[in-house]
Amino acid sequence: MDNYAIAENFSLLAKLMDIHGENSFKTKTYAIAAFNIEKLPAQLSDTPRDKIIGIKGIGESVGKKIMEMLDTGDLLILKEYLSSTPPGVVEMLNIKGIGPKKIHTVWKEMEIESIGELLYACNENRLTLFKGFGEKTQKNVQEAIEFYMQNQGSHLFSSVYEVFPGINAYLEKLFSKNIVHITGAYRRQAITIDELEFVVLDTNDNIKPKFQTAFPPELIEDNKDSLLYKLKNGLKLRLYTGKGNMAERLFSTTGSKEFTDAFQKAFPTLKYDDKKITGRSTNEEKDAIVFAQVKLPYILPCLRESSSIIDKAKKNALPELEKPGDIKGIIHSHSNWSDGAYKLEEMADECIKRGLEYLVISDHSKSAFYANGLSEERIGEQQKQIAELNSKLKPFKIFKSIECDILNDGSLDYSNNVLTSFDLVIASIHSNLKMPEDKAMLRLIKAIENPYTIILGHMTGRLLLSRNGYPINHQTIIDACAANHVVIELNAHPRRLDIDWKWIDYALEKEVLISIDPDAHSLEGFDDVKYGAMAAQKGGLTKENNLSSFSLKEFEGWLGKTRKLKGI
Ligand SMILES: [Zn+2]
Ligand SMILES: [Zn+2]
Repeated sequence: MDNYAIAENFSLLAKLMDIHGENSFKTKTYAIAAFNIEKLPAQLSDTPRDKIIGIKGIGESVGKKIMEMLDTGDLLILKEYLSSTPPGVVEMLNIKGIGPKKIHTVWKEMEIESIGELLYACNENRLTLFKGFGEKTQKNVQEAIEFYMQNQGSHLFSSVYEVFPGINAYLEKLFSKNIVHITGAYRRQAITIDELEFVVLDTNDNIKPKFQTAFPPELIEDNKDSLLYKLKNGLKLRLYTGKGNMAERLFSTTGSKEFTDAFQKAFPTLKYDDKKITGRSTNEEKDAIVFAQVKLPYILPCLRESSSIIDKAKKNALPELEKPGDIKGIIHSHSNWSDGAYKLEEMADECIKRGLEYLVISDHSKSAFYANGLSEERIGEQQKQIAELNSKLKPFKIFKSIECDILNDGSLDYSNNVLTSFDLVIASIHSNLKMPEDKAMLRLIKAIENPYTIILGHMTGRLLLSRNGYPINHQTIIDACAANHVVIELNAHPRRLDIDWKWIDYALEKEVLISIDPDAHSLEGFDDVKYGAMAAQKGGLTKENNLSSFSLKEFEGWLGKTRKLKGI
């Protein structure tokens, strides 16, 4: 072990001890040791053992640990600290602008255990509620995390969506529009993206030099029929190359493996004929030809996931998918009454500006103290303000709602007297997320059976690429929602997209309504409904089955009927 490795171990030990909130005198000793050891002129491994203790900055305790490392190659106390710290908390040390002491607060007081959760908390303005975290710190942390995450392997669909037009335009310019086409997971609107995939109908030898001079990305793989590059922003770019047939290349690289295998099996004599493809063909037409050849209606790329969609196409039963523009109201949003950034009136004005017909304002409930949740008294004040705004903003309407915490035992956060004052209640779990399936199911089912619950919010609590949701039995939850006339939210925040689209099909089969909700904490947050709609399309959602696509009149009618059914 060289001095550098020994110093690194001490430095990490000092940081971990700070993260655990240990006595700072002790942690400083190790930090100073690390600093001094790195600058020593001679290797400690070459220094006589009896001379080690007494070197500047090396006392007895540090000296003994150095010998332990030299003898065993390990430092037991460091291993113990590492094993008692969640890996996501250790990973936070990579984020600039947040040191071990702040990480201590993040972990122990905010109960955040991963970088993705921390980013989400920044989006919800949650850091500023804690000592030592101003708005500026929050912003710095947010930017540093975004930068860090860009350089990890997987990306949210939303972050690729933002850079896609630029990359697409660039490739089209570089190689000509006719031979370039987006494909793969992004074309299927997958909720997370590992590689941005394109078909480029040219040989590797022609492509590589053009690419290299244009914007020199790092070439990671050079295969017979594909190239893999890593762009400066950390995103991996896969090019399916080779001279060939666009219809075939596009079709075979767009669908999931399950889908394409099933398709080949169903139509073994399929020939790809791209004679009819011209430079003017739209993107869709370029592989629509494949479907026409087997006399099947066109299956949109977003639906090419499972084999079952082929049977639906055969029966001519493909759904007419929900579109972002079908959304008529904002359901689930937070104002500055709790942890949102804008006033109620500002949020309503923004809805009106966007041509929306209603806003369901659902601030946090009283147990969510970290989010400035509403006390019974403040609920009364907010509802008074809503009534005033409603008479002013007519025909636009604000609905009185609450995102009510589902408590540990599954009960809701207010008495029935209070719950009855809302037009509708969205019930969500925000606390004690680490629980086994039986506990999660008990909480959720009890909340679903509560007659005041109209919508079940982000049902698994997952944060994509950051935190798995608590384990649940989706089928049982959906069945319970069907039995109790509860709507299931599709939380449209690109990091949530929860309920997962894979379960929408089953929910529709059980005649459960889905609601695409932005869970907005700012005006810009309304934009997220498009990510919700795109995920919902994958699950085959139609506008008739999406609550937030109901017009104001339909929504009011439905709400009255549902409340009656539930006896509230
Ligand atoms: Zn929530
Ligand atoms: Zn919310």
